[in-house]
Amino acid sequence: MIHLEYIERSQSVQTVPVVCMHCEQPTCAEVCPADAIKRTGDGVVQSARKPRCIACGNCVVACPFGVPEVYEDKQLMMKCDMCYDRTTAGKKPMCATVCPSQALFFGTREQIEQLRPMSMPTNQFQFGRQTITTRVNIMVPKNGATRPLVNVTDAMNEHAAPRSVSLPVAGGFDPFAEVEV
Ligand code: SF4
Ligand code: SF4
Repeated sequence: MIHLEYIERSQSVQTVPVVCMHCEQPTCAEVCPADAIKRTGDGVVQSARKPRCIACGNCVVACPFGVPEVYEDKQLMMKCDMCYDRTTAGKKPMCATVCPSQALFFGTREQIEQLRPMSMPTNQFQFGRQTITTRVNIMVPKNGATRPLVNVTDAMNEHAAPRSVSLPVAGGFDPFAEVEV
């Protein structure tokens, strides 16, 4: 129930996982004519209720993060519900369990701050004049701000700057060759 998107396919094979951000005021639920999307008391926005969803696709268009998908064969919208069956039983969501690099992490703010001292979590996103607050956080570089805000509208016009990482290369070449990604 998550998607993998390319950052800039013509430049790089780098991808990013797209998960439901579990908005405090979920636009997907606000536009649903069938009241099929519920937000539980603990802040998790559920996938569409099967008996209610009429597969109209309003939520697909309205979600600022591009998350919901309507499955035509099932006539149902399905999206990430933070693996509610697992997380309410004290387990991690499946994506965070299998991610080998912890790009997806499930835990407390204190834990992630310890794991990634160069970054800080934020859950505020600016879309034009609207600020959206989410339950899910993303990590951004530390820049002195106590509560950074990601300006999504501005970022849409940015081009990813190339960066280099050191990768070991098999076959007798320089083991620490710089590779542009
Ligand atoms: S990210 Fe999209 S699908 Fe998830 S709660 Fe927010 S509006 Fe709904
Ligand atoms: S596709 Fe289903 S969940 Fe989405 S807005 Fe339409 S009825 Fe609601």
